[in-house]
Amino acid sequence: MRVDVFTIFPALVDDFTRLSLLGKARKDGALDLRVHDLRDGAGGRHRSVDDAPFGGGPGMVFMPEPIFAAVEGVQEREGLPRPLFLLSPGGRTFNQEIAEELANSTSGFSLLCGRYEGVDQRVCDHLVDGVLSVGDYVLSGGEVAALAVIEAVSRLLPGVMGNDESSGVESFSDGLLEYPQYTRPAEFRGWTVPSILLSGDHQRVDRWRRVESLVRTLRHRPDLVDARGGLTREEVEMLVEEGEVELLAERGYT
Ligand code: SAH
Repeated sequence: MRVDVFTIFPALVDDFTRLSLLGKARKDGALDLRVHDLRDGAGGRHRSVDDAPFGGGPGMVFMPEPIFAAVEGVQEREGLPRPLFLLSPGGRTFNQEIAEELANSTSGFSLLCGRYEGVDQRVCDHLVDGVLSVGDYVLSGGEVAALAVIEAVSRLLPGVMGNDESSGVESFSDGLLEYPQYTRPAEFRGWTVPSILLSGDHQRVDRWRRVESLVRTLRHRPDLVDARGGLTREEVEMLVEEGEVELLAERGYT
C-alpha cells in the first residue's frame, strides 16, 4: 500500500517509520511510504511556507501556494494516492473503523501535516479530500497524528503483523475493549494470574475473556456498548451468572 506524507519535518516521519513493525513493512514492500518536504513547494531563499493570518491574531498560517505546489508537484511526477487527508483537530475523529476502511482501499492515501496555527482554508476547500483528527486535543503539528494513522492502518495490512489473527481479536474489533492479558510468571510479587487461564479449558477461558471484555467496556466505555446497540440478552444473562448485577444495574440493565 502506498502512503504519501507532506510535512515540513520529513525526518520526524521518516525516522519513526524506519523502526519496528513499520520499518519491516517498509522494507518488505507491504508499505510504500513516501515522505515529502512541504518546503520543496516554496520559492525564495528562505523557502518560507507560512505567513501571518489575515485579520490579525497570534501565530502563523501555512500559505496555500507552497502547499498546492508541493502536492501538485508530486502528483505530476509520481502520481498521488487519494484520498488526501489534512490532519486537523477540526476533522472527523479517526477510529478503528476508518483504519479498516483505509487498510482495505488498495489505492492507498495521502496525509498533509499542518504546523503553527494551521493551514489556509483554501487548502481545505480545494486541495484535500477530507480532514482527520486524532482526538479532542491540540498538538503542535500533524506529524504525530499522521504517524498514529499510518501505524493503525499498517498493522491491518496482510503480512505486516507476525500473527495475522492478533489484529482480529483486540480492542474495538467487535465494538468492545480487549480482555486483560497475562504472561509468565504465573505469580509475580504475590500477584497471581486468574487460575482459569492456567486451566487449559478453552471453553472456560473463552467465556472468562468474553465476560472480562464486557465488564471492562461497560465500566470504562459504556458509550461503546451503546454504539453497538447495547448488550444482547445472552450477554446480560452471562453477566448475571458471573455476579455482575450491580454493574448491570448501574448501566440501566435490570
Ligand atoms: N489553530 C488550530 C490548531 C493548530 S495545531 C485549531 O485551533 O484548530 C497545528 C497543527 O497540528 C494542525 O494544523 C494539525 O495539522 C495538527 N494537529 C493538532 N491537533 C491535532 C489533532 N487533534 N488531530 C490531528 N491533527 C492535529
